[in-house]
Amino acid sequence: MASLLALQEELRQNFRSGATRSVAWRKAQLRSLHRLLTEEEDQIFTVLHEDLGKHRVESFRDEIGVLLKSLKYSLTHVQKWMAPKKRQLPLAFFPATAEVMPEPLGLVLIFSAWNFPLALSLEPLIGAISAGCTTVIKPSEHAPATSSFLARAIPKYMDTKAIKVIEGGIPVAEQLLQEKWDKIFFTGSIQVGRIIMSAAAKHLTPVTLELGGTCPAVVDSRLSSSDREMAAKRISSAKWGCCNGQACLAVDYILVEEKLASNLIDLLKQSIKRNYGENLAESKGIARIVNKHHFMRLCSLLEDPRVSASVVHGGSVDEEKLFIEPTILLNPPLSSKLMTEEIFGPLLPIVTLKKIQESIEFINSRPKPLAIYVFTEDEKLKKRVLSETSSGSVTFNDVLLHYLADELPFGGVGESGIGSYHGKFSFDTFTHEKAVLRRHFFMEPQARYPPWNDFKLKF
Ligand code: NAD
Repeated sequence: MASLLALQEELRQNFRSGATRSVAWRKAQLRSLHRLLTEEEDQIFTVLHEDLGKHRVESFRDEIGVLLKSLKYSLTHVQKWMAPKKRQLPLAFFPATAEVMPEPLGLVLIFSAWNFPLALSLEPLIGAISAGCTTVIKPSEHAPATSSFLARAIPKYMDTKAIKVIEGGIPVAEQLLQEKWDKIFFTGSIQVGRIIMSAAAKHLTPVTLELGGTCPAVVDSRLSSSDREMAAKRISSAKWGCCNGQACLAVDYILVEEKLASNLIDLLKQSIKRNYGENLAESKGIARIVNKHHFMRLCSLLEDPRVSASVVHGGSVDEEKLFIEPTILLNPPLSSKLMTEEIFGPLLPIVTLKKIQESIEFINSRPKPLAIYVFTEDEKLKKRVLSETSSGSVTFNDVLLHYLADELPFGGVGESGIGSYHGKFSFDTFTHEKAVLRRHFFMEPQARYPPWNDFKLKF
């Protein structure tokens, strides 16, 4: 505890000195982070493979590449973001000027999840650096190789008086939460999100919470056969080709009209075969389940006899390799855990509806998703989804892509999260917008001062 307080004091003193506020410091740190990612690329591939069995291509696309893109964007725009913005004032204020001055929040704490252990630690760090904050990162203990890589690499490349990594599990997290921070940025589960928010409330610390997914995909049976094939390809590669379903943005379940179900299942099966071959357990292209705990959790979802009876493809598991086959289920009971909890793994339920329009009611009967994906060319349906449902984001005719767009905020709503980041939104997340008004000492209307009389009401 004493050493944590000393570490916080060091970071606070450095923040108060103004060292992290200059554009030169922010750009230098962003460039150093860029160097870390390029010079340590092989190490990163190794640790991500160790933690999650991710293929190098997947690791580059989802972690290193995403970060390099964000760094480039922030380096280009940070100076403009940090500049005060002039604001209009009513004539009655004359002579005066006003501006909004972006002010770094101070000392911030970042908690990350294990599924993209590098990107989810460093993407918020890009925002914190751009905003001029000092930062402590607590990576997930469930990706230990990446966590210890960050603890080694950050001090080697970054300003150690401003950015620190603290490793550890729940006891360390709990200790961190007892202290006061100027912002807590959390990526993780809804359950722990609640713990973070109540701990933050004690100090009135603002939070950004990037929480659970439960993202539905709606597939319209009126699509042409080639568009249906494309939809299945996109859903399949985003589900199983992105950390094997262990992604907040993975499709959690598909909604489809009864008459399309068997065609869609065939298309998904073809896509799995094309991507990973016949012997999936040996495939190097598919990530494994992160640990025994999550492996057992996923197996227990399948053990429910009502759920196992609904498996139409896959279902095999290998405990030693922590491997679960891409598994498709048709109409599992809606009351089963599979359908009431976030799956976060390679199981993909398909729920059939009489009419595709019923998908709106279905989605609205559940907590607000992080993302909704709708594959359709029907403009009326698109409009209804946008205006009658609530979610962190909506993507038409694709999956996951919005995550890569710097100009779009990434975040949830309701149980899928509070706040957002990416691009300028990351800068805003770690910034206080300070209102500044400058006035002069001449031209003073006497109407603003007592003694009051009815004549002064007119002003
Ligand atoms: P988690 O909530 O178990 O852990 C996240 C972080 O919180 C870790 O750093 C962990 O050490 C810490 N933590 C765990 N228990 C704690 C406690 N009792 N007190 C204080 N801190 C604690 O989440 P996870 O298993 O690492 O990640 C999976 C979850 O994260 C899923 O729900 C997934 O949807 C979500 N997620 C969301 C996003 C997003 O951007 N919205 C991205 C990735 C993952």
